[in-house]
Amino acid sequence: VPAAVAAPDSADRTPAYLNARLPVEKRVADLLGRMTLAEKVGQMTQAERGAIDADQAQITNLALGSVLSGGGSTPASNTPEAWADMIDGYQSRALATRLHIPLLYGIDSVHGDNNLVGATIFPHNVGLGATRDPQLVGQVEHITATETRATGPQWVFAPCVCVTRDERWGRTYESFGEDPKLVQQMETAIDGFQGTSTKDLDDPDHVLATAKHYAGDGDTTFGTSTSGTYTIDQGVTITDWQHFAQTDLAPYVTAVRQHDVGSIMPSFSSVQWTDRPGSTPVKMSANKELLTDVLKQKIGFDGFLISDWEAIHQLPGDYATQVRTAVNAGMDMFMEPNSAPQFEQALTAEVQAGRVSMARINDAVSRILKAKFELGLFEHPYTDRSNMGTIGSAQHRAVARQAVSESQVLLKNSNNALPLKASQKIYVAGVNANDLGNQAGGWTVTWQGQSGNTSFPGTTILQGIQQVAKNVTYSADASAPTAGADVGVVVIGETPYAEGVGDVGNGHTLNISDADRANIDKVCGAIKTCVVLDVAGRPQIVTDELGKMDAFVMSWLPGSEGAGVADVLFGKKAFTGKLPVTWPRSEAQEPINVGDRDYDPLFPYGYGLTTRR
Ligand code: BGC
Repeated sequence: VPAAVAAPDSADRTPAYLNARLPVEKRVADLLGRMTLAEKVGQMTQAERGAIDADQAQITNLALGSVLSGGGSTPASNTPEAWADMIDGYQSRALATRLHIPLLYGIDSVHGDNNLVGATIFPHNVGLGATRDPQLVGQVEHITATETRATGPQWVFAPCVCVTRDERWGRTYESFGEDPKLVQQMETAIDGFQGTSTKDLDDPDHVLATAKHYAGDGDTTFGTSTSGTYTIDQGVTITDWQHFAQTDLAPYVTAVRQHDVGSIMPSFSSVQWTDRPGSTPVKMSANKELLTDVLKQKIGFDGFLISDWEAIHQLPGDYATQVRTAVNAGMDMFMEPNSAPQFEQALTAEVQAGRVSMARINDAVSRILKAKFELGLFEHPYTDRSNMGTIGSAQHRAVARQAVSESQVLLKNSNNALPLKASQKIYVAGVNANDLGNQAGGWTVTWQGQSGNTSFPGTTILQGIQQVAKNVTYSADASAPTAGADVGVVVIGETPYAEGVGDVGNGHTLNISDADRANIDKVCGAIKTCVVLDVAGRPQIVTDELGKMDAFVMSWLPGSEGAGVADVLFGKKAFTGKLPVTWPRSEAQEPINVGDRDYDPLFPYGYGLTTRR
């Protein structure tokens, strides 16, 4: 029975928590007072849809607080209706519990509602950072919120407010940039998701946001040193307090104090202090000082902490110890995709044994319930589908196209190579000119993204060029570039990856591929004017190729609207993008960031030429 229709016979017997006119704190306190330990532990548990789908009774039996779709975990038919039907089905199971507490559904909408086929796919954050346009970023995430919530999820694991300090990190593209001040400016993303007041959260065009991954995920040490060998993703941030506070923590102060972010996801990574003798790496999920003392108490975070995917499994000790350590450190909800029953059992036992206090449980559950009340889930638990018709609409795509244009960074432009003219004979080369999957990158329909994915609608860069110029020839491998062409456009770049999979040293390098180098040589050798575009999540090493090019543009991972690239190429709009990260001369220069001693990059942080319209 949906809570909304569970009104008891006489008004004075209406439980206070079901009274929408009461302040949220009163409703939380009332509900908490009615809950058993099992129900409280249930609220702290998040399972993955793949794990519960076959046996949905688990939602009721385990009194689950939340379900997520991990990257690419979609319903069989990937349509807005199928998503909403699936999530509403789960919701009906949650509402069948004794207290009818609604479920919170979370998803990684990190560049649009990117799991959904047909959604508007925006540039990844690194491109948004290049726009230097906080207002536009707010608009982008408002559209993302609208498209996401129309299909059911009321909660997104975004934005990543990571400060990327080493481009060998496979998550560089999820960052707005290397300068904490830039990341802070782009936290208008949170307002786009949530609105500007908690009152906005129950609107069908807003979702609860998650600032992630707290803190220092982009600032880990990579490589081998006297004290060990370090991975870059999920690695160790080796730092003194001052650097950590200024670089890694700063975006969270802004997220909490200026944007009232609803949830925060602690990082897989660890912190080790260089200014504390004997300090050893401590995983964020176990770091009571940083989760509770600093974030909740000093900074004043009153939302809830959601652990990253099985992150607590990386803590020392047996499972009971891992659970106890994390909850006592301050973790409120646990992303335990495939082990919700084991988690509930372990946490319950720890509480019964007195190793986790009831006060800590009540604090965690209160924070989670607060979000559910603010989201209006008790009043309208099922998906409001009224905005479904706007998913992937021309209006939304127009905003994405604008974001693409503003994200393009012009790094070289000699001989007035740009802007191109519609009347020119244009020879286009390179797989990335015509591959929507590569153009969208990781976290697109599947977790890792996929080269050659044509399952979702959009416009490739080549198609964008063809919409403007009539005389266009294309060859993926630059076969037979004709000297008769006025201009050659070579699109180089990366293929999709997500998380540590994309780390340099893990099958990836910042160097351009042999095929891309050959394409540049062939086209720039044969055609007088030669423009190179880079479709990648991070700078690639082009030091030896730059001299061969007349113009060089960083396109990042633009998403579904390749026409936005053509808009700046042909001068319909001026280039205005600025580098959100430093462009190294060689991979060996990493990590390289503005302010470093001996800073000698190929292009400095903030660089970007402009063209007149
Ligand atoms: C990632 C998070 C993501 C979560 C849920 C993890 O592997 O680190 O960024 O939100 O999965 O998909």
